[in-house]
Amino acid sequence: MNIILLGAPGAGKGTQAEVISDRLSIPTISTGNIIREALKTGTEMGLKAKSYMEAGQLVPDEVVIGIIKERLAKDDCQNGFILDGFPRTIPQAEALDNMGIVIDKVIDIEVTDEAIIKRMSGRRVCEKCGASYHMEYKRPQEDGVCDKCAGTLVQRKDDHPDTVKARLEVYHKETEPLKGYYEKQGKLSVIQGQDTVEQTTAHILKAVEA
Ligand code: AMP
Repeated sequence: MNIILLGAPGAGKGTQAEVISDRLSIPTISTGNIIREALKTGTEMGLKAKSYMEAGQLVPDEVVIGIIKERLAKDDCQNGFILDGFPRTIPQAEALDNMGIVIDKVIDIEVTDEAIIKRMSGRRVCEKCGASYHMEYKRPQEDGVCDKCAGTLVQRKDDHPDTVKARLEVYHKETEPLKGYYEKQGKLSVIQGQDTVEQTTAHILKAVEA
């Protein structure tokens, strides 16, 4: 099954992707994590992406389309995948269609901007493996330490309030139109993401298994 998770930054896509990925035994592909990894290792692509990312802007389409093309060609995507953070623009969605990739379900997780701003300030990620946590909703067993790999938990630069506002603006302008794009294809399920993580997961699994 090929699944896209749509939603504003901070809507809980990363957390939900991890759960569904375990449940369905398919990998999660997060363009944000791939770009952050490239940034850490200092590749050319990472350097190109850095200024966009830190300003809360989107990395140019041709860069992320190249990333996704390469990643989806790997063996572990044969039985399906979950896309978290891609596509984020209509040209990116069109590029997927043009690659001949058939998407089965698009799950849109809806959360108000107000709730997102509150959530983002508590968000922490593992600097080693990228797993996400939250100071209020999803605490690690030990403060500041990743449950999965014992890496250090940090706040992402782009989770600072001013950057979050910029990211929300970009989301409404560039990414939200994708709802109409996939609704027309009959693939869209809209899930309210304001409940607990577990309730949201249950709704998503129901939509995926429908
Ligand atoms: P994320 O972790 O998905 O919130 O992504 C963090 C940042 O990476 C975004 O704010 C963008 O700067 C960049 N990024 C990730 N995915 C994409 C994408 N599909 N298109 C453009 N930029 C992206």
